[in-house]
Amino acid sequence: MVFCPECGERNREGSKFCRNCGALIEEKPLKSRFISGDKFSETRGALEKKEYHRAPHEGKEGFDWGTVVSGALLLVILMLILGRIMGFTGVLIATSISIIYVISSARRKASVPALIIMTLMSAAAISAYFSV
Ligand SMILES: [Zn+2]
Repeated sequence: MVFCPECGERNREGSKFCRNCGALIEEKPLKSRFISGDKFSETRGALEKKEYHRAPHEGKEGFDWGTVVSGALLLVILMLILGRIMGFTGVLIATSISIIYVISSARRKASVPALIIMTLMSAAAISAYFSV
């Protein structure tokens, strides 16, 4: 996988031109681009800074359990309240809110496993709700 130096689009290894913007792709590995401090790495740095400010309580790498646990708590509480008031519609709304919460608060890297866990938990919670 190579990244376009102009727009950051992912391109196949060995591509000469970006499939998104058509810019010439250098065959430098990504790491040396970060060190060289060119336009691309500056853009990436700015993006990461922005993301960091959006979620300052989270670590730089890896899986954020805090988001998943708070998302799960939110799911249970909302499901109990909305499920009692609105029945199945309430359960669906509670699930949607919780998943949106996890996606928006987790960093991009962590949001995929968090989303999978939330989906499994939601499925379990919905089936548990209907088996009672
Ligand atoms: Zn491009």
